[in-house]
Amino acid sequence: MGPDFRQTMEVNNPEWVQDFLDASISYPSDQDKMRLAIVLARENVMRGTGGPFGAAVFEESTGALVSAGVNGVVRLGTGTAHAEVVAIMLAHGTVGCHTLRGVPGGPFTLASSCDPCAMCLGAVLWSGVSRLLCGASRDDASALGFDEGPVFEASYDYLKSRGVAVVRGLLRGEAQEVLRRYRDLGGPIYNG
Ligand SMILES: [Zn+2]
Repeated sequence: MGPDFRQTMEVNNPEWVQDFLDASISYPSDQDKMRLAIVLARENVMRGTGGPFGAAVFEESTGALVSAGVNGVVRLGTGTAHAEVVAIMLAHGTVGCHTLRGVPGGPFTLASSCDPCAMCLGAVLWSGVSRLLCGASRDDASALGFDEGPVFEASYDYLKSRGVAVVRGLLRGEAQEVLRRYRDLGGPIYNG
């Protein structure tokens, strides 16, 4: 009898995330959306459930929240459980489609508390979102020791050419503060 390769892997958020999400609240402005991503990142640090990163997906027209994600790399035991990937996977699960493009309620926006890494920029492309909002910069993350991988200005140009609008540096100061707090608390740097 060989090994069983009917493997599964569950992607989820820590229980506390539910307390910060409310379907009756809308997030009309880019700042509103980013603030939620940053709040989730901060709570993830303060509660010790993961790295200092948060993300969320919203309907553009109504500002309604679709899904959220916090970094779960250590908690879930996979280097791929970045906040953006968690939020995107949960959004796909919520709308019941492998892409958010052309889905009722769309177009959709992804807010990330930090510039996405190489993997997450790819995930943004395949997610079907139409807009990407970023808080802290790549430099802010790498100053802490986090490796963002091969991300170039051309990567953003490519996203834009594929119809994904990108806004960077949104509430950057607040997003940076979360990264600093994580460093000050001695949180692990878990590059693959
Ligand atoms: Zn990432």
